[in-house]
Amino acid sequence: MKLEELKLNKKGLLIVLSGFSGCGKGTVMKALLEQYPEEFSLSVSATTRAPRLGEQEGVAYFFKTKAEFEALIAEDALLEYANYVGNYYGTPKAYVQTQLNAGKNVFLEIEMQGALKVKEAFPETFLMFLVPPSIPELISRLEGRGTETGETVHSRMAQALEELKVIPRYDCVVVNNDIAQCVADVYNIVKHPELGKPYTKEQLDDLEEQLRRYLKGDKS
Ligand code: 5GP
Repeated sequence: MKLEELKLNKKGLLIVLSGFSGCGKGTVMKALLEQYPEEFSLSVSATTRAPRLGEQEGVAYFFKTKAEFEALIAEDALLEYANYVGNYYGTPKAYVQTQLNAGKNVFLEIEMQGALKVKEAFPETFLMFLVPPSIPELISRLEGRGTETGETVHSRMAQALEELKVIPRYDCVVVNNDIAQCVADVYNIVKHPELGKPYTKEQLDDLEEQLRRYLKGDKS
């Protein structure tokens, strides 16, 4: 199957949700799907990263070895894929196509390199970026999750600093301060995209300063 075929068959809307590691994308998606199961689907990605405690095969991800993942690439079975902090992550094409054909709006919860590839292939894709209320709040959520080592948290924040540069290419930024409010915001923006606002230069500069402070070792 080629990307072009997917485009021709498309009926639903393709929406990307990206955001810094730990900012609550998974929780927001889960709540949104529970509230509106008829309207939305969430694509399940393939990854070479090891499962975290409680993550189920085929629910959180399709967990693959590097060789298995590379076979998916060779078979052209992925809509997009990227390398993120040392692991492969990719979106299987088949599920997305079935759901779009069924008229569902499909969410891809993916990082930025993948998001930009999808936008290039399907310019009508709506790109949303989720940010935490602050970087110290994000760090405390990530550490509280207990699934990451200090080193992983640090490398994910270094990655976040890189990701900042791409935020202006997103159609809108949503702050995840409170899950219920954030789910309502995401829903309203999908229904009325003109409500979505990109981040201002001042907001981006502030986020960058907070990240740099953390990476220098200032935990305040
Ligand atoms: P995590 O390891 O925390 O589950 O995910 C790490 C990052 O990979 C997150 O930003 C997540 O959104 C992203 N990601 C998950 N699945 C995919 C995918 O299929 N493609 C791409 N490009 N990124 C993904």
